Amino acid sequence: MCGIVGILSNKNVASMIIEGLRRLEYRGYDSAGLATITDGKIVRRRAEGKIRNLEEKLFKDPLNGQSGIGHTRWATHGKPTEANAHPHGTDNLAVVHNGIIENYIELKVDLETKGHKFVTETDTEVVVHLIEENLKNDMEPKDATFAALDVLEGAFAIAVIFAKDENLMIGARQGTPLAVGYGEKEMFLASDSYALAPLTKRISFLEDGDRVVMTADAVDIYDLDGNKVEREIRVTAQSGATTGKGEYRHFMLKEIYEQPAVIGDTLNSYVHPSTGHVSIDPDILNALDKAP
Ligand code: GLU
Repeated sequence: MCGIVGILSNKNVASMIIEGLRRLEYRGYDSAGLATITDGKIVRRRAEGKIRNLEEKLFKDPLNGQSGIGHTRWATHGKPTEANAHPHGTDNLAVVHNGIIENYIELKVDLETKGHKFVTETDTEVVVHLIEENLKNDMEPKDATFAALDVLEGAFAIAVIFAKDENLMIGARQGTPLAVGYGEKEMFLASDSYALAPLTKRISFLEDGDRVVMTADAVDIYDLDGNKVEREIRVTAQSGATTGKGEYRHFMLKEIYEQPAVIGDTLNSYVHPSTGHVSIDPDILNALDKAP
């Protein structure tokens, strides 16, 4: 599983996106990239391999921009090369995508007959060209994106930014998780709340089929039928500190060494701190009773 981070802010977002991508490293990936909007233009940096390769590129060639999307890719369609690394895009938009577009071949053939040139081996690129085609037909970014989503089959999450509107990001969840983070004049999208832990604790988890239209000040969520819906904003308890790799070289090593502490913490949570009495939630006892 790979990861998505999207940020609309009033300050440069590249380093925040990199930090978010690092927090998604545990999901596994083979390449990474990000795109921001600078002076009305989409600018990308992408790299094969580890996030530090992407950081080296950013160090040599920094990216400004107060809105952007980032991605860690685990290739399903096409080799894990820089050319196939997300974000993919045109001069008008950039897209990051988790998951698989199952009907991408028929969509690609149709788009090619309309003159679209494909430059990657990914299934993702059809999303780019579908939205581009709709924009060309004078649709607004929201309608252009929603209409593109309507024809996609498969399990995926996406985030899209538009060169002409720096303060707009559109996301969708269809079978693959996506969370919205609420900040102060900043909004975030990410594959999970861990990625956003240092940025905000106020999170809405999108439901399957949800689409989200975000600015730095407002979030509108729509269900699959196009109805505006409310999704609960939860305050997560995660601290940024517990979610990183810490002093360990790999997440697996961290998990192995953390096992005694995690089991201890879990047992401790059933013991009253001053009386020492053990109390277990009746729902848990019921579930244990029913366990085979
Ligand atoms: N299917 C897309 C690709 O191969 C996205 C893979 C992913 O979820 O990272 O580029």
